[in-house]
Amino acid sequence: MQTYRNFIDGAWTDAASGRTLDVLNPATLEVIARVPDSGPEDVDRAVRAARRAFDAGDWPQTSARERGRILFRLSEYLGKNAARFAEIETLNNGKPLAEAREDLSDAAFCFEYYGGLATKVRGDVLPVPGNVMSLALREPVGVAGQIIPWNYPLMMAAQKLAPAIAAGCTSVLKPAEQTPISVLELAGAFEEAGLPPGVVNIVNGAGETAGAAIVVHPEVDKIAFTGSCEVGKIIMREASATLKRVSLELGGKSPNIFFADAEFEAAIEGALFGVFLNQGEICSAGSRVLVQRSIYSRLLDAVVEKAKKIKVGPGLSPETKMGPLVSQEQYDKVLSYLEVGKKEARLVLGGGRPKHLPKEAEKGFFVEPTIFCDVDNSARIAREEIFGPVMAVIPFDDEEDACRIANDTPFGLAAAVWTRDIFKALRAVKRLRAGVVWVNHMQPAPVEAPWGGYKQSGFGRELGPHGLDEYLEVKQVYINLNDRPIGWYR
Ligand code: NAP
Ligand code: MG
Repeated sequence: MQTYRNFIDGAWTDAASGRTLDVLNPATLEVIARVPDSGPEDVDRAVRAARRAFDAGDWPQTSARERGRILFRLSEYLGKNAARFAEIETLNNGKPLAEAREDLSDAAFCFEYYGGLATKVRGDVLPVPGNVMSLALREPVGVAGQIIPWNYPLMMAAQKLAPAIAAGCTSVLKPAEQTPISVLELAGAFEEAGLPPGVVNIVNGAGETAGAAIVVHPEVDKIAFTGSCEVGKIIMREASATLKRVSLELGGKSPNIFFADAEFEAAIEGALFGVFLNQGEICSAGSRVLVQRSIYSRLLDAVVEKAKKIKVGPGLSPETKMGPLVSQEQYDKVLSYLEVGKKEARLVLGGGRPKHLPKEAEKGFFVEPTIFCDVDNSARIAREEIFGPVMAVIPFDDEEDACRIANDTPFGLAAAVWTRDIFKALRAVKRLRAGVVWVNHMQPAPVEAPWGGYKQSGFGRELGPHGLDEYLEVKQVYINLNDRPIGWYR
């Protein structure tokens, strides 16, 4: 049990109110930490520190090389402490330790990647008419407010902080109140890595108070948000009062499409991996499994057989393949969708709480891997984001039908297609309205490649070079090379 504080202007401080929030281990419901329950006053201190650091002092003078090296040092720190951080992630989020280790490796590489990219920011020279030199410079956008969810706590922090640092921005980051520990532990390494005070500030607290205060603060230039569509809409509205730049990574109801000619064994695993990874708490979860009729029963039976063997339990147990959901709120939400699903479709696996859990985990937020089949795409379990281990299996006739059903959703984050016919795959790639399309895989999100949604899954991109662009403004410079009067007022 540890009590953490906010990290503001390079120092650890309590919330002005002195209030704290409990942080749980979702497998046991033990309180494992306390964090400040911050309000507008705390956010204001953090934003003012970020503003000062951006406008004056050492940070605006740092070279891209120096910022790159800071990022390399953060990456090294995570690499050296990966085992400890992975354990923290599992204790706090619930996910299996093997998955947390993967997250750590991605988070560490994310700092390394943007460390390398810091020195590759370039502008343009434009061919404007006259004796003129025209430049387009790329400059940091300013103070970034960064609000993140609880499903990939450290990875989400890394993919927001690393490009901001590379670009020369400063940040006020609010972790999800459920999973603040890993990023606070990382903040302990900021000074050693060479980050000047005020460049990265971490403010803990609830979304409705601390998060909302960041979004409306007039000294914040940009908001980067990952989370629900519902909150994304609030953020866009609230940020409009001060016309902040906004990037939104929201939810989805992503189709995972299996054609009859898909490699069968790969298809079974692909269907499971798409939606049961991270307990299904993934924005790009392949929660709609579309299967061509000629293989429908055979694939469904095989998927159900394999899903029965998924071991649900505390993330720290080595045999666990699925951990608990993150919170009571999420647990209640998913269970309520299971009841909705039982009225809308045919339940073929799971549908509730696992019967056998280890003694220490009896109170944890565990849900069985659940599969509904013969789902109509108009059902609520096919339209609404559940954010839990719930698969909706939908039959289709042909390519045309598959793409129509896949695109019939307000979301557009991701989609996957499984087939051995490259032409069929590429036709689907062209037709699917989604920001990420996988062929014969689902879920990899390499740090080097852009990530983000179409339609109501949001806008703006994270990761890859596009992720850095979100933290850069373009300044057009017009240089008149003649040193005589323009000659307009004779
Ligand atoms: P959420 O409410 O969207 O929260 C995401 C982040 O936004 C958290 O840090 C949250 O703070 C903060 N927040 C909440 N209300 C805010 C406001 N009015 N102004 C500024 N910030 C605000 O997501 P959640 O509560 O964690 O989960 C609810 C649902 O969101 C899930 O069931 C799932 O469908 C979806 N979700 C999607 C993603 C994704 O990656 N697309 C990730 C997580 C959740 P606090 O939560 O700390 O109060
Ligand atoms: Mg919330």
